[in-house]
Amino acid sequence: MATPLTLTRLEIYSKKWKVNYKLFDSAAAVVSRGRRNFLVQYGVMNHHTGSDSGQSDDYDNFLFVRGRPEEGIPAPLCNISGDMDGEVHFGAMRVANHAGAGSDFTLNAIRNQNYDGYNKELNPGPDNINGNDVYLGIEWKYDGGQPPTPEMWESMVRLNAAICDAQGWTALAVLAHREHTERKNDPGNVLMFILRRHVRDLLIAGPEGGSDVALTEQEKKDIRNAGWLAEQFGQGKQFEEDFDIIQAFVTSLSTAEAARYADLKDTITQWSEAKDQARLTELVNKLEEHQQALLAASNQQTAALADAIQAQTLAIINAINPPE
Ligand SMILES: [Zn+2]
Repeated sequence: MATPLTLTRLEIYSKKWKVNYKLFDSAAAVVSRGRRNFLVQYGVMNHHTGSDSGQSDDYDNFLFVRGRPEEGIPAPLCNISGDMDGEVHFGAMRVANHAGAGSDFTLNAIRNQNYDGYNKELNPGPDNINGNDVYLGIEWKYDGGQPPTPEMWESMVRLNAAICDAQGWTALAVLAHREHTERKNDPGNVLMFILRRHVRDLLIAGPEGGSDVALTEQEKKDIRNAGWLAEQFGQGKQFEEDFDIIQAFVTSLSTAEAARYADLKDTITQWSEAKDQARLTELVNKLEEHQQALLAASNQQTAALADAIQAQTLAIINAINPPE
């Protein structure tokens, strides 16, 4: 736990950890901006905006001032934003609308700082709390479909470290939106255990010793191999719809035919849990197998379904082996 971070402390610690920051507007405006006062703070949540085109002052104006009132989400949409060139903007020190509903399982882990966060990400439980009142929110302004730039990565490691130091937290107070709620997958192409390791290592090395916070080649490779996961979490829902269509088709078949497709349901059901390449590869093989069976059966209904399966299979193959 910590008392709410003040702008004064945020600036002192950002200077200490060499964060290249600016105030979005006047200090008085930044201090007073937000939905209400924080009573406590337990951690700092990292997000992506989902777009590379938001590097402008106007985009910060959207995040900090305009918000999305038409969707019932008034500004500010985060406390701090970060550009792809590494520049950071402080916009709101009071409660922002960034986290929304999420898991108290995650909150307990973050609050107690007793989870295995340097080796894995947290899997959130059901949404049963509101995170806005207990977490600071940082928007990384990139689309998440590719890794952040090296400049953005370094500035975000430094910023998270500065906040942890100012608040007396370890790097286990750093979390992702997707660790708060299953509804979200951001920040994309950032593995949180790698981010937390870098924040931890920088905090240990100190501002002078921590000159190299860049990702290693091996870490870049790990992220490249796993980065698609974030994207696929988002596509899981759409895949479930395809699953319903396929299931309806299987149900409509005669018993003898249906037996040929029985295991497809189990395989597809694994989709939303599929978090490793081996299982996804198995799924791709299964889908290709069924596509062939459908083409062999060849009537209009099965041909359309075979097309759908082919498209789905290609999407998964691309996700497993993303273009370099
Ligand atoms: Zn988010």
